Amino acid sequence: MLAPVMGRVTRSVLRRVRPGGGTTLPGWVAVKLDPKFVERTAARFALRVVITGTNGKTSTMTLLRHLLERDGCVVVANEEGANLHQGVAAALLEGPGDALVMEVDEAAFPRLAPALAPHLVIVTGLFRDQLDRFGEVRTTRGHLERAIASLPEARLLLNGDDPLVASLAVEGRSLAFRAALPPMDVPSDIPACPVCGGDLVYDERYYAHLGRYRCEACGFTNPATPYEATFGVDGLTMDGRTYPPLPPYLHPYSATAALAAARALGVEPALEAWPNAVGGRGEVRTILERRVSLALVKNPASMSWNLAQERADAHAFFINDGAADGVDVSWLWDARYPPLLGRVAVGGTRALEFLIRMRYLEPRAEATAFPTLQGALMHAVRGAPAGGSVLVLSTYTNLKQAYQLLDRPPAEASSAGTALPAQSPAVPPSRGRGGNGRPARIAWLYPDQMGTYGDGGNLEVLRRRLAWRGRAAEVVRVDVGDTWPRDVDAVVMGGGEDLAQGLIMSDLRRHAGEIGALLDDGAAALVVCGGYQLLGESFEVDGRPVEGLGLLPVTTGRGTSRLVGRMLVESPFVDGLLVGFENHGGHTRLHGGTALGRVVQGHGNALEGAAGEGVVHAHAIGTYLHGPVLARNPWLADLVLGWIAERLGWEALDPLDDAIERQALERFVTASRTR
Ligand code: GLN
Repeated sequence: MLAPVMGRVTRSVLRRVRPGGGTTLPGWVAVKLDPKFVERTAARFALRVVITGTNGKTSTMTLLRHLLERDGCVVVANEEGANLHQGVAAALLEGPGDALVMEVDEAAFPRLAPALAPHLVIVTGLFRDQLDRFGEVRTTRGHLERAIASLPEARLLLNGDDPLVASLAVEGRSLAFRAALPPMDVPSDIPACPVCGGDLVYDERYYAHLGRYRCEACGFTNPATPYEATFGVDGLTMDGRTYPPLPPYLHPYSATAALAAARALGVEPALEAWPNAVGGRGEVRTILERRVSLALVKNPASMSWNLAQERADAHAFFINDGAADGVDVSWLWDARYPPLLGRVAVGGTRALEFLIRMRYLEPRAEATAFPTLQGALMHAVRGAPAGGSVLVLSTYTNLKQAYQLLDRPPAEASSAGTALPAQSPAVPPSRGRGGNGRPARIAWLYPDQMGTYGDGGNLEVLRRRLAWRGRAAEVVRVDVGDTWPRDVDAVVMGGGEDLAQGLIMSDLRRHAGEIGALLDDGAAALVVCGGYQLLGESFEVDGRPVEGLGLLPVTTGRGTSRLVGRMLVESPFVDGLLVGFENHGGHTRLHGGTALGRVVQGHGNALEGAAGEGVVHAHAIGTYLHGPVLARNPWLADLVLGWIAERLGWEALDPLDDAIERQALERFVTASRTR
């Protein structure tokens, strides 16, 4: 009895001293006094539902709670979105009730789900998310799969349009939901069929890897389901019943999942209106006669989707890199940004990095970074016409402050911002240009499979930095089955999951001769993480060695730990520091060439005694600095471009204005040293 009493006492004290606070501490107290508090308390509910997945948990939970309450149920839920052990324990202090509806973090699920002993588990969708925490999206799926096996009593309600989720089905106890959505261009987060590694083909692709799919090898396909939502002007229709049109913030899959869950629980869902907002998402306020709305962004899927829902006159991006946001924000480079963003204002700990992202958009966005969120918000508001609209896109740890700002906007924001150079970069095209006048041709290898860590930005950086100097570049994709393109001057490949590396290797081998000849001939190459490993002598997939192309003097084995986090590298090739992130299970040894640099912080190659990172071999660079490494380190981009210029007989390339990148690098170094 003591645990719940003390938990409740803590809660009421906290609420008095800190209104709106106290979402987890009361739970900590309860669990401290009774380690079995969650199990014991959850068992008192006649119905227990757990919701997990990377995106859409909070919306689905809130909607389902609403639908069950409409049906007369007393529901206890973790409304504040506190979805780790203590947060769930704190929410349980709200009882008693008839039904428990809890969202649970994907990594906490294996421990928490058995404690909650759910009757129904809903999996909303799995996207690349917090990769610095999970490594690969397949790892996240693996956590769920193992945990589901330990819940023999639970029925599953799975997003059937998401192959990663649908493949979690267990014979005899799985249901699925699906939705027919208009197609949207968002990169897929899986390289192949999650069941057998075969080719997934899509009849319809809604966005990312969601759609109507079928594996050519094993036949794995969307499950049959009674819960199908269709969307029209009247709203969402399921099973002959039409619900109101969704507000822009509410994802169709969240609405579909909640309606399907209610039905699966035997409730005929009734609803006259969707909630206006959920946990800050979808909040709308009027500031200085502009309509300002708030959205949560966390990965390419959510950023691209939110930007496509509302056409706003101006945008404010609040980008943080706290642990709950994901420390590595490379994903910002893989989101899709509409061409007309209007005025863009940026705040948060990674404001400068986002400003650099905007620099490389085409057409370039008019963006300014601010030291405070207030400054950014008011700049965006003033950039929209009176009567116009502003969309605020915030990462998780900024959401609360964003919400408070919307409620109580600052009277006047005086902070000065850092703007992109007015005509970025204001450098006239090279004078005497010299050499071969044809565009530089850059082969981009397997973007679909080898682009998991935000590496795609590197191509934009190379192309645009040439364009700004009056030189054209063509990026030529090389996908599985393609013939090798003509006249290649540079080869670029990004990082990928172990599975993806294994899958493309045999196709890549067909091009070994061409790539080898190019490197011998002085062509440039930038190969990152997985790509770096593939060009070496060998690497490992699932404990088995796989022969690489043998073009770089490196060998990759496996260490005991995955190497994840910020990396600082002192490099003679750029006369200074290179910064970025690494996220790899492979440990690499150099037996030739020169290391790209010396690791100051982080791991790099890891197997080379002298704390080396990457390799430079002729004009090829291999590195574990992933994501848009060239955007963060434009001096490295210019090294590669210099080699291309040399190959084409061009005159030396003019310098560009990279003051913002220098500032961002300093911030990155300070942040790395203080964490
Ligand atoms: N799959 C490889 C590894 O884990 C490469 C990872 C990456 O590209 N970031 O080592």
